[in-house]
Amino acid sequence: MERYRETRGCKRRVLIADDERINCEILGNILSGKYDVSYANDGQVAYDMLKSEKPGFSLVLLDLLMPRMDGFELIRRVREDDELKSIPVIVMTSEADAEVKSINMGAADFITKPYDMPEVILARCERIIELFEDKTIISSAEKDSLTGLYSRDFFYQYIRQIEKYNSETLMDAVVLNIDHFHLVNEMYGRRTGNEVLKGLADMLMNIFEDVAGIGCRAEADSFYVYCQHQYSYEKIMSKIRDNLPYLSEKARIRIRMGVYPTVDKELEVESWFDRAKRACDRIRGDYTKSMAMYSSDLHDLSVYHEELINEIDEAIENKDLVVFYQPKYDISGDTPVLRSAEALIRWKHPERGMISPGDFIPLFEGNGLIQKLDNYAWEEAAHQICRWREKYGRTIPVSVNVSRIDIYDQAFESKLVKLIDAYDLTAENLMLEITESAYADNEDTLVKVVDSLRSKGFIIEMDDFGSGYSSLNMLTTISVDVIKIDMKFIRNMLKDQKSLRMVKLIIDIAGYLNVPTVAEGVEDEAQVNALKKMGCNIIQGFYFSRPVPPEEFEKLIEKEKK
Ligand code: C2E
Ligand code: MG
Ligand code: MG
Repeated sequence: MERYRETRGCKRRVLIADDERINCEILGNILSGKYDVSYANDGQVAYDMLKSEKPGFSLVLLDLLMPRMDGFELIRRVREDDELKSIPVIVMTSEADAEVKSINMGAADFITKPYDMPEVILARCERIIELFEDKTIISSAEKDSLTGLYSRDFFYQYIRQIEKYNSETLMDAVVLNIDHFHLVNEMYGRRTGNEVLKGLADMLMNIFEDVAGIGCRAEADSFYVYCQHQYSYEKIMSKIRDNLPYLSEKARIRIRMGVYPTVDKELEVESWFDRAKRACDRIRGDYTKSMAMYSSDLHDLSVYHEELINEIDEAIENKDLVVFYQPKYDISGDTPVLRSAEALIRWKHPERGMISPGDFIPLFEGNGLIQKLDNYAWEEAAHQICRWREKYGRTIPVSVNVSRIDIYDQAFESKLVKLIDAYDLTAENLMLEITESAYADNEDTLVKVVDSLRSKGFIIEMDDFGSGYSSLNMLTTISVDVIKIDMKFIRNMLKDQKSLRMVKLIIDIAGYLNVPTVAEGVEDEAQVNALKKMGCNIIQGFYFSRPVPPEEFEKLIEKEKK
């Protein structure tokens, strides 16, 4: 992918600093066919131009004797300046002494006056420019040995180099990430993992070559591409989708792409890719999307997210994270009976007020922090069951939510067992809600984990059932104890026939499998009656109660006793 140097067609800029016009003209004539030539008639002007002009210069041809600032002083300043020191300086002189002195000071080469043959001068300039560009690049150069792509440092440096001559072209920053790559390694072995990475790198570079892209492997499973601006990425994405490496005969890896279009060249190169990465992170775990564009709203959102991430430990420590409880009622008899509860986390932020889980759960699911939060919520719930048992002499089972990441945690089961032992609970007391979409990830692991938990007596509730693609398919492979009907069907049940039929179908299937159903999001009596008629016996929703703090939940327990 070394296409940039040849195909861009942008001329590199050369600065001739000489106070004698005739010299400028001779050199200018020699160089202007190949380079974009500028002139300065003293050292100070040359220095100011080097500092201020964009795109930057690739070479300075310098006369040593000039008014105001002489050539030696200019070389010294250029060499000491971080921004300028990578620009080579060729000294033009007729004195042998000066040649040695200027080379010692850091000049790259010299040209003697009167001038040599034009071809020789041109060749020397070309060689020095190439040498310096390669030197700056090679100093941080490293290719990723597995994929043959550039390393991230090199990639950034290369982009800065390209930008010197290419600052006018609209460019995009693209970040691509493999979904759950660690699972590929765990399940198929590192060798397959490596083959997947290599295959993907080759494929991406082939595709992005058409839009003059260069690419690097930035992290284990994440690739960065810098390419010409595209109005739409649909075509590229569909080519990628068609060519994704296989893991087995049936399974392919899945990939997400985030794009920061028309990068703001006033910003650092690193932040272009941070932005593309944020777009990419935003769709993590959302199986309906494989591509996202960066927008400034996203910037505000990501600042907010960043703050939440930084504050999570403190929030746990200060107990700003609190667990609310929402009752589940059995409506099979004449009067509803409180059966159990669901533990739902809330963040009582000291400055922002109450933050709903919709704001932070998906965020923490994306970066693994969810485990911290879940472990905390489980512990709080277990403790609460224990407190209520002591206070009321009855055990109210509480369901906790389990994230997909928890399921792949090797210590998942042992953590739960430890927890129920610590509070002297039985496995049935702490029920586990696993959201249906967890199934989409890795069927085999989920089946194994669920089977093992059930054999220990834990009750598994399939949450949000009907929301994913694989609902029915899943029931053929996984044994669960309870099915929770996705709220959106309940919401629309009495407005549209399709939802009603779906609810009926789920209840029938559950009946056939001998598994009870829970209807979530039940808000009014009409819904309760309709559900009862269809054979759904357990109801959770605002109709009975919103999720409430433990003190308020106690009123519901006490009401039952009357
Ligand atoms: P979920 O597990 O499906 O929980 C049910 C959600 O429905 C809760 O939203 C609850 O407040 C809401 N809800 C209950 N009844 C009604 C109703 O009648 N009408 C309406 N409109 N909504 C109702 P919440 O508390 O905002 O939680 C959202 C999601 O966040 C939960 O969905 C769950 O997936 C997740 N979540 C909450 N706490 C935790 C936790 O501790 N760990 C994990 N991993 N996820 C959690
Ligand atoms: Mg739930
Ligand atoms: Mg749910």
